[in-house]
Amino acid sequence: MSNIADAIQALKAAMGEKLSTARPDLESHGTSETYYPLTPPDAVLFATSTEDVAEAVKICAAHGCPVTAWGTGTSLEAHSLPVKGGVTIDLSRMNRMLELRDQDLCVRVQPGLTREELNVALRDKGLFFPVDPGANASLGGMAATRASGTTTVRYGTMRDNVMALEVVLADGRIIRTGSLARKSSAGYDLTRLFVGSEGTLGVITELTLKLQGQPDCIAAAVCDFADVESAVSAVIAIVQMGVPVARVELLNDVQLRSVNAYSGTDYPEKTHLFFEFHGSEAGVAEQSATVAEVVEDFGGGAFRWATKTEDRNALWKARHTAYWAAKATFPTGQWIVTDVCVPISQLAKAITETEADLAAHGREAHILGHVGDGNYHVLICADPDLSGDLEDTLKLADRMAERALALGGTVTGEHGVGLGKMKHMAAEHGEALSVMAALKRSLDPQNILNPGKVVPLN
Ligand SMILES: Cc1cc2nc3c(=O)[nH]c(=O)nc-3n(C[C@H](O)[C@H](O)[C@H](O)COP(=O)(O)OP(=O)(O)OC[C@H]3O[C@@H](n4cnc5c(N)ncnc54)[C@H](O)[C@@H]3O)c2cc1C
Repeated sequence: MSNIADAIQALKAAMGEKLSTARPDLESHGTSETYYPLTPPDAVLFATSTEDVAEAVKICAAHGCPVTAWGTGTSLEAHSLPVKGGVTIDLSRMNRMLELRDQDLCVRVQPGLTREELNVALRDKGLFFPVDPGANASLGGMAATRASGTTTVRYGTMRDNVMALEVVLADGRIIRTGSLARKSSAGYDLTRLFVGSEGTLGVITELTLKLQGQPDCIAAAVCDFADVESAVSAVIAIVQMGVPVARVELLNDVQLRSVNAYSGTDYPEKTHLFFEFHGSEAGVAEQSATVAEVVEDFGGGAFRWATKTEDRNALWKARHTAYWAAKATFPTGQWIVTDVCVPISQLAKAITETEADLAAHGREAHILGHVGDGNYHVLICADPDLSGDLEDTLKLADRMAERALALGGTVTGEHGVGLGKMKHMAAEHGEALSVMAALKRSLDPQNILNPGKVVPLN
C-alpha cells in the first residue's frame, strides 16, 4: 500500500465519518477559480476541532502523506489544489466565533468562519472586521493568503489585522503565536510568518483579529474619468494628501461595460473611481469635499452619491461582482485573474503600459484595482478553442509581473503565490528565497504541507 493509502486507512479509523472519499467531495476540493484542471485529493477530512487537525496531521506525518488546508476555495492562483494528492483538511465546520472582547476591540474565531458571517455576528455590537477581499472567504484562508481588498487603503491587510494565531505544525504540535496585547517585542514574529504562508508551514486553527468601531457616518460615491491615467493621477494626489478614504476602487471602461451588462447598472462606459468615506458627519463631509476638488482638477465627472445603506450596498455589489461580470462576457473562456502592486507613484505608468501591451496583442483588458494601495488586477481571457492562446495570455500576465518588479513593486499584492506566481519568486526575492526554503525545510522537513506551492524546493 502507498503512503497515502496507509494514511487514509489510519485516518478512517481515527476520524470515522469525518473522513470522506466520496467522489463529489474529492472533486469539489479539486477545483479552483483558475484554469487549472480538476486535481482532487485522495480524501477530505471535515475537521471539527483543533484536536482533529492535530491528530490528522500527526497521522499524515507518520506516513509522509501530503496535507492541504481548505477554507472556501476562492483563492485565485490554485493555492488549494492538492497537486501531490493526499488529504485535504476542510476547515469549514470550524466556524464559530469563540470570544468577543469588545473592550479590547478584538475577537477570537475559528478559521472556517467567513468574513461576512463574522460581520453579521458583530452588526449589533457596533463593531466590524474591515478586511474585504470581495469573496466571502474564510478568515483562516484570508490569513493564509495575507488577503486584503477594498478597505485596505484605510484599515490595512490581514498582516495588520491578525493579532494572534493557533497553528498545527507539520508534526502535529499545536502552538500559539502572538497575544491579546496590541504590540510585543518578545522574540520572532511568528504570527506574521504564518500569515501569508498559504498552508505550507502549518494549519491555522484559531485566529485573534482586530476589530474597528462602526463609523457614525458612511457615504459612497462614484465618478467617471476620460481615461485610466487621469483617474489614477487623482488617486495618487488623494493618497499623497493623506485623505483617509475608506475605499477607492478603479474600474476601467471595459470592466464598467461588463458590470453594467451583468448588474443592470447604467454607469457611463468610461473609467470610474468608486469611493467610500467613513467618519463623523463633519469628517465625511470634509473628506468628500477635498476628494471632489481633486477629482475636478483631474477632469473627473460629478459625484453620484449613495448615502442610504441600500444604495451603498447596490454600488458595492456592482463592484464586488466585477469578476463574475467579466467572466460572463465569455463564460467558456479560460480566465486569468492576475494582480500586482507597485509604489503608488508608479501606478499610472504600470497600468497604462499594461493597457498598451494588451491592446497591442488584440486583447480586451478588464482592469480593476484597489488603486489607493497601488494594487490592480487584470482579467484576461484565453479561448480554449484556439491553440496556444492560453500560453500567449499567460505571457501577457508574466510581462505584467515583470513590469511591476521593474517599477519597484511585487508580483502579487494580495492574491498570493499558489502555483501561478511561483515562477516569479526568484526574480522578486533573489537570495531571500533560499531563506524561505530553509524556513520551509525546518518547519516541514518532509514537505507534507501543501507541497509544490509558494517556495520551489530543489
Ligand atoms: C470574486 C473574487 C474576488 C476576490 N477578490 C480578492 C481581493 O480583493 N483580495 C484578495 O486578497 N483576494 C481576493 N480573492 C481571492 C480569495 O478570496 C482570497 O485569496 C481568500 O483569502 C482565500 O480564502 P479561502 O477561504 O477561499 O481560502 P482557500 O482558497 O480555501 O485557500 C487559500 C490558501 O490558504 C490555505 N489555507 C486555507 N485555510 C487555511 C488554514 N486554516 N490554515 C492554513 N492554510 C489555510 C490553503 O491551503 C490555500 O493555500 C478573490 C476571489 C474571488 C473569487
